[in-house]
Amino acid sequence: MSFASLGLSPALLRAVREQGYHAPTAIQAAALPPILAGADVLALAQTGSGKTAAFVLPLLQRLVDAPRPGQATGPGPRALVLAPTRELAQQTAELLREVAALLLHRPRIALAFGGVSINPQLMALRGGCDVIVATPGRLLDLIDHNGLQLGGVQCLVLDEADRLLGQGFADELARVLALLPARRQSLLFSATFPPALQGLADGWLHDPVRIRI
Ligand code: AMP
Repeated sequence: MSFASLGLSPALLRAVREQGYHAPTAIQAAALPPILAGADVLALAQTGSGKTAAFVLPLLQRLVDAPRPGQATGPGPRALVLAPTRELAQQTAELLREVAALLLHRPRIALAFGGVSINPQLMALRGGCDVIVATPGRLLDLIDHNGLQLGGVQCLVLDEADRLLGQGFADELARVLALLPARRQSLLFSATFPPALQGLADGWLHDPVRIRI
């Protein structure tokens, strides 16, 4: 199995080489084709399985392949990654930035998390962004401060969804969901699948491809 056979474009293949990945991990082999095809995905995968690259690579490829469709979708980000903790959000934004730096149009990656002053994050968003990685509470704070709007989001990722629920973010997630366009791609990654997550998955995903590693 090679990354090329999974449908990654030359620019993304270069990024994969620069990351030092020789072959896709099991979650990458299973998740890349449906994500690249635009399907919703529900993936059960542990941290350490390579799950971050399993959504970062196809998400960026789809972003570059499909240019921003004019003003119709507004100025906000086209992809939103929700993470339960600052550390996870930072790691994911770092990989997104490393890969994006190698792409022709250099998608702009924003990062937002709570526990620090909101002002620098509001300032950073003024220049616009293509992808935002955020913890749920701070994302809503930014929206409430008119720093961000979600009407143009075409792809949503719930990373470590079991931890998102476990940290008590259910209400924040419901608010975010109400702000997202109905027509979008949604990807849910989780290490475990407790019953409460099924309700979340039903609300967020449309006819998902199910992957269990
Ligand atoms: P994650 O499960 O996303 O936390 O990734 C765990 C680690 O696996 C990270 O340090 C990645 O750099 C590494 N990794 C991801 N994909 C690959 C791959 N295809 N080959 C080798 N290492 C990888």
